[in-house]
Amino acid sequence: MTQHDAIVVGTGFAGLYMLHRLHAQGLNAIVLEQGSDVGGTWYWNRYPGARCDNESLGYSYSFLPDLDQEWSWPERYSEQPVILRYLNTVADRLDLRRDIRFDTRVEAARFDEQSSTWAVSTAQGETLTARYLVMATGCLSVPNWPEIPGRDDFDGDVLHTALWPHEDYDFTGKTVAVIGTGSTAIQSIPKIAEQARTLTVFQRTANHCVPAQNMPMDPEVEAERKAHYPEIRAKSRLTRSGDFVPQGEVTLMALSSDKQQRILEDCWQQGGFYTQYPFNDVLTDPNANAIVTAFSHDQIRKRVKDPAVAELLCAKDHPFGTKRLCADTNYFETYNLDHVHLVNLKSTPIKAITASGIRTSARDHEVDVIVFATGFDAMTGALTSIDIEGRDGLRLRDKWAEGTRALLGVAMNGFPNLFTVTGPGSPSVMINVVPAIEQHVEWIDRCIDWMEQRGAQTIEPEARAEDAWVEHVNETANATLFPQANSWYMGANIPGKPRMFMPYVGGLGDFRRRCDEIADEGYSGFAVT
Ligand code: NAP
Repeated sequence: MTQHDAIVVGTGFAGLYMLHRLHAQGLNAIVLEQGSDVGGTWYWNRYPGARCDNESLGYSYSFLPDLDQEWSWPERYSEQPVILRYLNTVADRLDLRRDIRFDTRVEAARFDEQSSTWAVSTAQGETLTARYLVMATGCLSVPNWPEIPGRDDFDGDVLHTALWPHEDYDFTGKTVAVIGTGSTAIQSIPKIAEQARTLTVFQRTANHCVPAQNMPMDPEVEAERKAHYPEIRAKSRLTRSGDFVPQGEVTLMALSSDKQQRILEDCWQQGGFYTQYPFNDVLTDPNANAIVTAFSHDQIRKRVKDPAVAELLCAKDHPFGTKRLCADTNYFETYNLDHVHLVNLKSTPIKAITASGIRTSARDHEVDVIVFATGFDAMTGALTSIDIEGRDGLRLRDKWAEGTRALLGVAMNGFPNLFTVTGPGSPSVMINVVPAIEQHVEWIDRCIDWMEQRGAQTIEPEARAEDAWVEHVNETANATLFPQANSWYMGANIPGKPRMFMPYVGGLGDFRRRCDEIADEGYSGFAVT
């Protein structure tokens, strides 16, 4: 059994930064990673068109000012290979690889009360122990394979966007089915259509979507950013979204109808999540939301030639932005191509997968390849798929059976010295996730340092403090329109998963202040031995 001060699981943005901070403290830390290289979500999600829809200039670490100056992001939104290259550069520059063990999947973690240590067992048959365990396993890392009868009977190729092959997959001359129309599908469908002989998209729910307006990086914008990076980074740490675009300055319902249209046109012109940020009432006031929804539907009707297809592509079953907003490049125009077809699963559901394709209630669709763009067991999947056992035999799966419970999304009562980066109850996926990760990692780092300085043995949330935080997270979400959508934020995409809005919608700035206060107060709400 190998003993460490800390074990970190995962080498995405979170795991790499955590290891760097633990190195700086002089702790003996190791990172376990199931992939064969660093990158986390950017290592696995290699599907055609994979790209970040947070702007490149804000989707990077804030603690590497030299790299900020040296690095050039080629486009407004970065493609997956560029982000993966960035993370590899960081891993090399900070000399992190020496403490990363690749191809190592964590299967179980058990807290031993006698020694106050975690024993972590891997699928490779090893057990490692440490005083601190940090789960940097990501919010979107366990692929969702829907239970469709006959899935294993299909004779052709089956791909999942979140487990894409490392070599290019050539769709040329193939008849292709894509199941799903979330962010991933919306990025990959136009790219797959460029190669496929025919492409049939199986849509259960249309999603709200804004134009990405991706473009090559404007050298002036880049130079301006590089000149002011430190100030912009410092400001972004205190905004709601962790990003630098203007936010919450406009009350849509306070404007005249003409002004509303002009501002929405400007938003669509700017593209990306800028569309959401200027408003302070779109996610709380159904009337404001209906105006944006109507505007967005009109844009789809202008872009899609067949009116019946355009109607199917308009999201109507949930308010604008209450499922993760998608950002598109040529998505809607793709349906104007003769070889691209849309199947509405609401009227003709999938009945089975057969040897030759997909059977809906209306007919059989024969295809060579099925692409599952069906998302993830989000927020909790990566944690509950590991058998985590805390004090008194309490299993995390059981603790969360009725819904997630955690203090600040970073620690759980019953699980001493276990930390989760961007866990449920933190801003995580509601904002630019890199600043969210940095905030959590820095808080965990400070907490571990504090423990070490005092010679403390364990820290864990008190039940009362955890309950109060969960209540606050719920109240904050219930004041918005978010709970109205059957989203993965709500756990609604996985059959049987408890329905609860998991992330914290209070924004990064206030969350950071609250977390810092708790640390300043000597970790109030936490029990320390
Ligand atoms: P997703 O948003 O969960 O979408 C999954 C799609 O699969 C939905 O359209 C869903 O339909 C459909 N689906 C699931 N099970 C199905 C079934 N049994 N039958 C038919 N359809 C089914 O997943 P995603 O597109 O992979 O995106 C997940 C998240 O990853 C995003 O929301 C985003 O946060 C992140 N992401 C980010 C980027 C980026 O930054 N550029 C890109 C991609 C993904 P229903 O809606 O009806 O359930």
